[in-house]
Amino acid sequence: MTNPFDILFEPVRIGPVTAPNRFYQVPHCNGFGHRMPRGLAALRGIKAEGGWGVVCTEEVEIHHSSDLAPYFEGRLWSDEDIPALALMAESVHRHGSLAGIELAYNGLDASNLYSRVPPLAPRSMGTIGGSGYDPVQTRRMDKEDIRNMRDWHRQAALRARRAGFDIIYCYAGHGMSAAAQFILRRYNDRTDEYGGSLENRTRLLRELIQETKEAVGGTCAVAVRFAVDELMGDDGITSQGEGHDVVALLAELPDLWDVNLSNWGNDSAPSRFEKEGFQERYISFVKKLTTKPVVGVGRYTSPDSMVSAIRRGVLDLIGAARPSIADPFLPTKIREGRLEDIRECIGCNICVTGDTRFVPLRCTQNPTMGEEWRRGWHPELIAPRKSTKEIMVIGAGPAGLEAARALGQRGYGVTLLEARQEPGGRVLREAGLPGLSEWRRVMDWRLTQIKKMKNVSVYPSSPMTAEEIVESGAQNILVATGATWRRDGVGRTLSRSINGHDLTNVLTPDDLLEGKLPSGKVILYDDDHYYMGGVLAELLAAQGAQVVLVTPAPLVSYWSQYTLEQERVQRRLMKLDVKIQVQHVLVSIGSHSVKISSTLTGQTTELENDSVVLVTDRISNDGLYYQLKSALAEAGPGSLRLIGDAEAPNIIAQAVFSGHRAAREFDEVPVAGTPFKVERMNV
Ligand code: ADP
Ligand code: SF4
Repeated sequence: MTNPFDILFEPVRIGPVTAPNRFYQVPHCNGFGHRMPRGLAALRGIKAEGGWGVVCTEEVEIHHSSDLAPYFEGRLWSDEDIPALALMAESVHRHGSLAGIELAYNGLDASNLYSRVPPLAPRSMGTIGGSGYDPVQTRRMDKEDIRNMRDWHRQAALRARRAGFDIIYCYAGHGMSAAAQFILRRYNDRTDEYGGSLENRTRLLRELIQETKEAVGGTCAVAVRFAVDELMGDDGITSQGEGHDVVALLAELPDLWDVNLSNWGNDSAPSRFEKEGFQERYISFVKKLTTKPVVGVGRYTSPDSMVSAIRRGVLDLIGAARPSIADPFLPTKIREGRLEDIRECIGCNICVTGDTRFVPLRCTQNPTMGEEWRRGWHPELIAPRKSTKEIMVIGAGPAGLEAARALGQRGYGVTLLEARQEPGGRVLREAGLPGLSEWRRVMDWRLTQIKKMKNVSVYPSSPMTAEEIVESGAQNILVATGATWRRDGVGRTLSRSINGHDLTNVLTPDDLLEGKLPSGKVILYDDDHYYMGGVLAELLAAQGAQVVLVTPAPLVSYWSQYTLEQERVQRRLMKLDVKIQVQHVLVSIGSHSVKISSTLTGQTTELENDSVVLVTDRISNDGLYYQLKSALAEAGPGSLRLIGDAEAPNIIAQAVFSGHRAAREFDEVPVAGTPFKVERMNV
């Protein structure tokens, strides 16, 4: 029988090279960059091993006059940078895939905080990268600067070829490179041959493509990454206007078109706001204008959608960043017909925080992501069991589910006990909140895997006490009992409980998740700062409540800026008429009003309310663990471990990671000192 997805496994010719299939890991940032080349090479190698026919770098700086510090991207300033990148190309080639490199000269996007030379750009203006508000202004490039920049790009292309790369990018995506900024009218006020008409504004990109082809075109493919729409209407380029026209102007020049949306937040739109294939309506024109292969993204995780995008003539190659992070073995699983094994990306954008918080890439669905080199973790393989010990896991939230699954994969006998009627813990409940339905995939994938394991039994409706556990004779226990939202307002801002917190009109996220929804005038106090406050405000406002969101932070859902969501969250709340009161703390709660005070001046204001929702800290449900700890101390050897939110409340990704780590470390001798490898410079 033929595989209905065979078309995805056809080779695709890209200039002088051939991709072994249509699975294409587009360039994506990762927080490793030039700082941790071994970790990054291992991460990219795993993608190739999992079947991605092309695996690309992130942005790679080509010259010190365009330095992306404090972010860690790739770096190819000189020959000395070649070995680090060669590590990656080698690890990708080892599995028969092509390695792509995204050369970037970032112009306005680079503040050069490390190199301290003036950034160069089409015009002199404040830089737009990083924080967006660095007090740094660029120098307008003169003709000599443009000639120099083209030469740096050519040199970098030659170095990239020496490093072993097969596909070399000219980057004009996301408004983040000089080539893109020259095209954009708002950044280009030039009167020379690089300004004015679209043809003139596209001149630099055209020259870069031509010169890269002249330098390496015989052996390497030359790709263009271009954002066809900025979703800014006439203030930016659109897929019906200049986005279309640029592709028409350069149609046959590159060997490959990698097309997407700008800015990064639009390109990597979270599932809360956009669904699979969301870019098609913008990029589908491209294939009509060129005979060259086209790759695009849209958080494709369904092989049917992938095949459809190819058959409908939208794409030649299925581009992916996030789906390849959540499941590096997605292509292999499709090839082998193991569709239910695909670990689908949930679109939470925690992976983005690797870049935006300057730490190794991480993923909610795939706890091994970023740990390939330093911990030696593989997304599909795990050490077999070392004994016939049986393990009891208490609590089937993300931590307990992942621990049970991974221990089961190792071959241990596992009993997973859950107090509620349904497993899933916080994921089950939070996936019911507006826009978060795809988060269910965290539990669905794990339960699907567990169902196949004869050695793992799941018992819902089993609230366990310490006595029952001790009586059961269990010797090895993982406690994954989660955490509970605080009812007293204590958190990072308030150290003492708020007066009035015990009134009956005061609720927590747990109450709302159980279906107890306040109406009328609701004050939502958010000292958590990630998604919960914003999403609950959305839920209540959508149901007709008049919501005032009060937060000590300077922005609503402050931390969601690192997942590229903050502006969308705020926009949605404003559309729902949620009133926003930033930089205020809650002072006291009354039956019909609350008092808030400014974090800056201390000035107090009274707000009328019918109810209050406190989104502050959580308290670990660790009581069971401590009871067991003293009870089992007398019962002799065995193991007891606290994991997930019960150990320390954190994001879902951390609960999954914690469960996975506990499963990997079970029966192993604890490592003295730092339990993972650290990349250090040889000095
Ligand atoms: P985490 O994010 O750490 O996995 P969750 O709060 O999502 O934490 O999940 C914890 C799960 O543990 C919840 O589903 C909860 O019902 C369950 N649980 C808590 N206490 C017990 C107990 N004593 N016995 C069985 N299940 C429990
Ligand atoms: Fe997808 Fe979230 Fe993983 Fe990123 S972190 S790849 S968005 S599941």
